[in-house]
Amino acid sequence: MKTKLGHYSEEAWSSRSRSLIFALVSGAMLLAQSPAQTPNPPAARPDRVGELERLGEGGRDLMIVGVEAPGFDKLKASQRKYAYFLYRAAIAGNDIAYFQNHRSAFEIKDLLEQIYLHSEGIDAATMEGLEEYLKFVWAHHGQYGHDSHLKFVPRLLTFKQLEKAAKQALKNGAEFNLRRDTLAKRLARLRPQIFDAKVEPVQVNQVAGVDVVATSSNGLYDPGLTSKEIQALSPELQGKLNVRFQLKKDKKGRKAAEAEEFKIGGAYGDQLELVNYWLEKALGYVDNEQIEVIKDGVKKTRFEPIANQRKALVDLITYFQTGDEKSFKDHSVAWLKTKSTVDYLNGFYEVYKDPRAVVGSYEANVSFRSDSDKIEKLSQNALYFEAKMPWPDLWKRAKVEPPVASVVNVILETGDSGPMSPAAYNLPNYSDIRKEFGSKNVVLLNIESAQSAKVKEQVIQAFYLPEDQELITKFGDLARQWTVYMHEVIGHGSGQPDAKLNGQDPAKAIGGVYSALEECRADCVALYQFFDPKVVEIGAVSEADQMAAAKAMYLGYLGGQLRMNGLVQGDTIREAHYRGRQLVLNYLTQPGTDFGVALVQKDGHSFVQVTDVQKARTGVGDILVKLQTFKSNGDKEGVEKFFADFGTKVNKDWQADAKGRMDALNLPRARAFVFPQLVPVVDQKNDRDVLRDVTLETKETFTEQMLRFSRWAKSREIAPK
Ligand SMILES: [Zn+2]
Repeated sequence: MKTKLGHYSEEAWSSRSRSLIFALVSGAMLLAQSPAQTPNPPAARPDRVGELERLGEGGRDLMIVGVEAPGFDKLKASQRKYAYFLYRAAIAGNDIAYFQNHRSAFEIKDLLEQIYLHSEGIDAATMEGLEEYLKFVWAHHGQYGHDSHLKFVPRLLTFKQLEKAAKQALKNGAEFNLRRDTLAKRLARLRPQIFDAKVEPVQVNQVAGVDVVATSSNGLYDPGLTSKEIQALSPELQGKLNVRFQLKKDKKGRKAAEAEEFKIGGAYGDQLELVNYWLEKALGYVDNEQIEVIKDGVKKTRFEPIANQRKALVDLITYFQTGDEKSFKDHSVAWLKTKSTVDYLNGFYEVYKDPRAVVGSYEANVSFRSDSDKIEKLSQNALYFEAKMPWPDLWKRAKVEPPVASVVNVILETGDSGPMSPAAYNLPNYSDIRKEFGSKNVVLLNIESAQSAKVKEQVIQAFYLPEDQELITKFGDLARQWTVYMHEVIGHGSGQPDAKLNGQDPAKAIGGVYSALEECRADCVALYQFFDPKVVEIGAVSEADQMAAAKAMYLGYLGGQLRMNGLVQGDTIREAHYRGRQLVLNYLTQPGTDFGVALVQKDGHSFVQVTDVQKARTGVGDILVKLQTFKSNGDKEGVEKFFADFGTKVNKDWQADAKGRMDALNLPRARAFVFPQLVPVVDQKNDRDVLRDVTLETKETFTEQMLRFSRWAKSREIAPK
């Protein structure tokens, strides 16, 4: 499961804005066009971090953001090498996402890239239109929106221009790999796929009452297949995570579906073979852990490879070799138990791209733990915080199992998780594994905090009172981070059911509204416990700054929710986290009470004002006691009424006000990332390159990054061009 980017942070990202013309960042476009083959000397290239470019009408469709991964140089050399081989494995699998998204997506990308790389003599207007469309194709892995699942077409490029450009590129030496095709045939075939929004308009169609297989245009089902052929397969094949379905016809012309496994020698076999090639190299650098052994009565320490990490990788390699999902489940168990410095994802996880919600999309990443001291200390103190919860002792746990929670910086994400990234994930998805072994909670710190300095400043100026702006600028990021940490680490796992429930799961007793209750409860734990002296002791904030940061936490949390009303369509809030926040905002500002929080009007707009943060905490404590009482008693009616009163309805005034203000700011609808680049340092040994070390840079443009992925995806060289 994924936490959507913007969930905890800048909700305004997904806003739909109207027509304020924002000139395309022409400087960035020019930089992006410098050929990738002749890199400038490193010293001459600027660092590219923060907002790099804007794309689409008025620059509102996509913002490209460069991210850093601070701390990579502090890793051990062996960890840096391990990360590098995992990085190569992630790049090797990236193209799978194109094939999964649509049968023509890879071909479209390849055609456009070849023209881009052989563009001498093609006019500037054509190249501008082609490059913009190519960037969208890279960001979304094809011609369908990553989240919307709807087809998009070029904004500034016509078929005539593309045709002329392709012919010129062919003369210039473009490698179109035509084989039995001609260029004319290929262009004719791709024309409706690229330019006609009405041809195969929906990638994932889950509308009730339609044949979801027949009406969805992703690459997991051959065209012509319908649900009927899928339902004719064995239940095992119908429920398999790593298959796609081919259309077969018998002699009488009857249709049938044939499952093709994702494995070496099967579907995406070429890519998976290279993924394994690099995973096997990574195996040589599995991290070591310190083991205490007693030998002849003397205590000694020695270092051993982390057993779970090694096992996880071996199982993953076996899985890609055989396609046997059992190996992936074994891998998942070992992976979730691994608390290593460098971690990864690689495989088929989320099912959002399959209209039946069964088949997994390829994604991969490499990350390393960051700031983990503090989150680990928080986790070790889970029992301490449990004792200090405001609800009665009989609903407190005597034992708390600290969850596997890590805060990481990602070095790279590919496939379904990059260059468009989630903010956090909680995996594996297998419910039997989650029940028996738990899951791993991972917060992507550098992605979560990556934003455009300009957009951030605009939001602060538009949505906070002048007297609070400095406080939010100073403590806003820290406060948001700790809201997330405390929510995940000491929030969800806290409390216990009343004995009279006899072991029945409160979730079952409470039903649909349970997830809103649970998200709200976890948020309130953070808002309540941030005041504790232990928070200073574990290093979250200094004693002198604690109350200021707490005030920033309330302002950011409540102000963010005020803004959120402007993003909701209609008059009901459905998403669990947002229902919880609406409840807190409404509860603390309800007429006839004083929780030190007020909504004030200034220049015709609403703002949250926190006059007394201790009083606000008392109010949150009240909410927390109520929520825990409902949960412990499995009190369905109680929760439903509480949320109906405070956490369901959109506030129409806030909605109109927030929407107007966000529209005026011209905020981008989506973000795609340029990740840091790992640069291999090699030694020559017997005419072969040997990896000596790895450094990290943030120099690439989006175009350079995506072209490099395409080149490196096919390479077995340690240091490819
Ligand atoms: Zn949660």
